[in-house]
Amino acid sequence: MKSRRVADLLQSTETGIDVFLKGWVRTRRGNKQIAFIAINDGSIIHSIQVVAEIEKFGDELMKSITTGACIAVKGKLVASQGQGQSVEIQAGSIEVLGGADETYPLQKKGHSLEFLREIAHLRPRTNTFGAVLRMRHHMTFAIHKYFNDRGFFNLHSPIITGSDAEGAGEMFQVTTLDFDKLPRNPDGTINYKEDFFGKATNLTVSGQLEGELGAMALGLVYTFGPTFRAENSNTPRHLAEFWMIEPEMAFYNLKDNMDLAEDFLKFLISYALEHCKDDLEFLTNLYDKELLNRLQSVVSQDFKRLTYTEAVEVLSSSNKKFEFPVSWGTDLQKEHENYLVDHFKRPVILSDYPKEIKSFYMKQNEDGKTVRAMDILFPWIGEIIGGSQREENFEKLQARIKEMKIHEEELWWYLETRKYGTCEHSGFGLGFERLMLFVTGMTNIRDVIPFPRTPKNAEF
Ligand code: ATP
Ligand code: MN
Repeated sequence: MKSRRVADLLQSTETGIDVFLKGWVRTRRGNKQIAFIAINDGSIIHSIQVVAEIEKFGDELMKSITTGACIAVKGKLVASQGQGQSVEIQAGSIEVLGGADETYPLQKKGHSLEFLREIAHLRPRTNTFGAVLRMRHHMTFAIHKYFNDRGFFNLHSPIITGSDAEGAGEMFQVTTLDFDKLPRNPDGTINYKEDFFGKATNLTVSGQLEGELGAMALGLVYTFGPTFRAENSNTPRHLAEFWMIEPEMAFYNLKDNMDLAEDFLKFLISYALEHCKDDLEFLTNLYDKELLNRLQSVVSQDFKRLTYTEAVEVLSSSNKKFEFPVSWGTDLQKEHENYLVDHFKRPVILSDYPKEIKSFYMKQNEDGKTVRAMDILFPWIGEIIGGSQREENFEKLQARIKEMKIHEEELWWYLETRKYGTCEHSGFGLGFERLMLFVTGMTNIRDVIPFPRTPKNAEF
């Protein structure tokens, strides 16, 4: 007999049939005569109840059916007498595939999220992380579906990069050089010609520059891959390794870019509401009573759009005392982003930032002061998306690179897109784990990725 999964069995309308099931014991209760064993196999948040008569199986076997053990059960699927489930299994035979003794750390329910981070190798077996990881999968699938349905092509941008010019923060170096015998140039600097790639290389902080190369050929592309930032920011919203989705579109201006980003986010949240009902209900009940309402409200409203300059006016005319005072030209802090989202009571798209606080590749406005950047700010999360219309004019882009003292020679290939068949184009980056924070209602980014990488933490 082929084994079936819990998700499938719980939906079964056919009872009185023989079934076979494999999974992990979540809880066991009962008395001297009878045991009620809750089995979960990860296919769904719910466990299925197995009813076993102790006399039938003997003490020896029954003793080894403990929390955390992996067991295989053959039995009859019957309508349940108890509350909370429609069907249960009357065990005919039970085999313990892998035992778990009393040292198994997930004995009881209700461990703190902090404790679970210390046992990240086992936390996927909890209801919470089961829900989060299933939702991560559904969101991944929804992202590919969204773009695929709209004619975008998935472009695989490299993870090892030879340029440090993206300007998105500190990078992790990739090298095979022996630190005890570093090859030196006559002037004492490290001779990277001896390194694996014959030059200094890093882990990528963004796939955007390569995304632009793809858009100049395939028109509509997106990357979806890991990105790395060695920023020592120990916040609940930053990881050293995170996943980013970066669409890049030929012939899109800033407005087209904002329209796509808003539609994309709404699609993903609607998808979660439709396809992750059980997991969302669980997370709402356990962690965040407002979660479902918040998701609904984001889907049903237009995002508020305003320029950076207008936002600074809103912030300066407010009565709120900010820790960091606001003035035109300064980067907005978390507290300012939160204020704006609260003020307008919905997600906010800010555009046209001062060029000094944005990257070199953003298209310059006529005013000479601002660039066609856009950030999307979400309740609690703050920045969830950062994007822009790109500077497509060769001379202007080159001048900006010089002004910002970026190594132009490393970017010769990027500049050539502006030399050969350049065109208006735009794109943005969505941090996948920031999206996961929003859709799961979890409050620490370490709890929406299976094995988080943060400063001083790469255990699992
Ligand atoms: P922040 O100001 O929040 O650090 P950023 O301006 O550095 O963000 P971008 O370089 O624009 O972010 O990256 C695009 C998106 O990637 C951000 O909008 C955010 O969703 C996500 N992101 C950026 N840095 C991190 C990080 N360290 N961990 C997780 N997600 C991140
Ligand atoms: Mn950052």
